[in-house]
Amino acid sequence: MKTLVELELTPAQAADPAAVRKACAERLGWSCGDWQVVPRHRSIDSRRGQPRVHLTVQVYRDEEPALEPPTFREPPSRLRHRVVIVGAGPAGYFAALELLLHGIRPVVLERGKDTQARRYDLRAIMREGRVDPHSNYCFGEGGAGAYSDGKLHTRSGKRGDVGQVLRWLVEHGARSEILVDSHPHLGSDRLPHVVANMRATIQRLGGEVHFGHHVSDLLMQGGRIRAAVLDGVDSFPADALILATGHSARDVYRLLDRLGLSLKAKPFAMGVRIEHPQELIDQIQYRQNPRDPFLPPASYRIARDGVYSFCMCPGGLIVPAATAPGELVVNGMSMSSRNSRWANSGIVTGVSGEDFSEYQSCGPLAGLEFQAALERSAFAANGEGSQKAPAQRLVDFLAGRDPVDLPRSSYHPGLVPWPLGELLPPRLGQALRHGLDRIGRAMRGFCSREAVLVAVESRTSSPVRIPRTAEKHYPMCFNLFPCGEGAGFAGGIVSAALDGQAVARAVALALSRAGS
Ligand SMILES: Cc1cc2nc3c(=O)[nH]c(=O)nc-3n(C[C@H](O)[C@H](O)[C@H](O)COP(=O)(O)OP(=O)(O)OC[C@H]3O[C@@H](n4cnc5c(N)ncnc54)[C@H](O)[C@@H]3O)c2cc1C
Repeated sequence: MKTLVELELTPAQAADPAAVRKACAERLGWSCGDWQVVPRHRSIDSRRGQPRVHLTVQVYRDEEPALEPPTFREPPSRLRHRVVIVGAGPAGYFAALELLLHGIRPVVLERGKDTQARRYDLRAIMREGRVDPHSNYCFGEGGAGAYSDGKLHTRSGKRGDVGQVLRWLVEHGARSEILVDSHPHLGSDRLPHVVANMRATIQRLGGEVHFGHHVSDLLMQGGRIRAAVLDGVDSFPADALILATGHSARDVYRLLDRLGLSLKAKPFAMGVRIEHPQELIDQIQYRQNPRDPFLPPASYRIARDGVYSFCMCPGGLIVPAATAPGELVVNGMSMSSRNSRWANSGIVTGVSGEDFSEYQSCGPLAGLEFQAALERSAFAANGEGSQKAPAQRLVDFLAGRDPVDLPRSSYHPGLVPWPLGELLPPRLGQALRHGLDRIGRAMRGFCSREAVLVAVESRTSSPVRIPRTAEKHYPMCFNLFPCGEGAGFAGGIVSAALDGQAVARAVALALSRAGS
């Protein structure tokens, strides 16, 4: 017999299996017997008074909890076809795994390095400001998701089976709590290990993964992709090609434009990253300082007048996320323990055609060129060619005062005081000032002297969409499948993974029809 029980507990009770069992026994009126408690869903409610944990558990009495069988146990007996996947981010690796389940051989080509080797290049960005255009916070095995904040929360539930994405991550070494938490999280210390295990599965089941393979051209003939070409030398023949190159691969958009494939400009968002001491956010959200040790660092999500928080990282760090020398881009990441002293979040607002009218001659790449120009201006601000980021205290930005000094920050390369109103395009700067002022009124304590704005948060989503049909291929090319965030069909780790799976299923269907 199994029963679902919903409990409201203190954080300490929720963390103690004996206390959870006791609460279940009280609720069910059971005093003894052989029964097991399996957590199913956990969320924190801090809206009223002291934060409480809502915990839903399944109680099994005289019955064993059913275990899901592992998905990737047996190698398929024979692999057919050869599908080239460009990009080893979440979209690329989930597409590869899904293809293997359909008995199709994936060949993953990744411009960057494996998760281990990539660490040295991240260190070089942090310490020396040196950005390798093939190996950085966005490029390399695991894509932009490997050294990220690792939030796995998504609102893309309609696009596929989110639970299955999380189960595949757990099968590859992620902690099983992500199946239970309402806002699941893995950190940058855990994600690379999970990603490396996924690669091992792809290889064990007969797929291929090649690092240091930068695809710089596509061989097209008769409305079909014939091969992916590497920096003009080697080529990889393909029955179909999944393009999962992420939204930072500007060279890929330019290549498609050069090949005459039509692209569509799409609205996207830009702004700054804001950082507060974590204890201040705990105070605002939990009304506790210090916070209950059984509570995670508090987070927030807020929007006012078109300005909204994006990718909030409690207990995290601001990182330099540029993908080429001469650019400056910031983003946020965290470790699984989320134990840094800071909380950061993107504060962004939508931009569209009228913001980048001066780039109209670039056609569908106008937004991309506008984004790139702002990143170059942010880089130029420090005047020393480093990754030191222009920054201003929030209170100075709101008052239109020149920055004199800055608070301490988690951003390792360092900050330079800079009037951000002069760096940001005027409409963007005004919108952010207005929105931040409204946010500050809604969240008491947010507009603190300790809050600092760091520029620029420019890579929130793709500025370009690569069109595709209902069958998920590019309209005029039946075996080219744009996929993931770079194609404009995902935003985040889980939604990119879902799109990878969906595109792989579409490829399997197209190949089976072609073969029949
Ligand atoms: C610092 C940071 C923190 C983030 N935090 C979160 C978070 O907490 N939660 C969340 O959901 N999302 C987060 N994101 C966003 C998330 O990582 C992306 O949405 C997701 O990774 C997109 O997946 P993708 O597979 O579509 O593309 P990507 O992850 O961008 O992968 C694309 C891959 O293609 C490769 N590639 C590009 N061009 C070529 C080429 N020409 N030849 C060969 N290979 C190529 C790249 O090297 C890269 O590995 C974060 C991003 C960053 C940068």
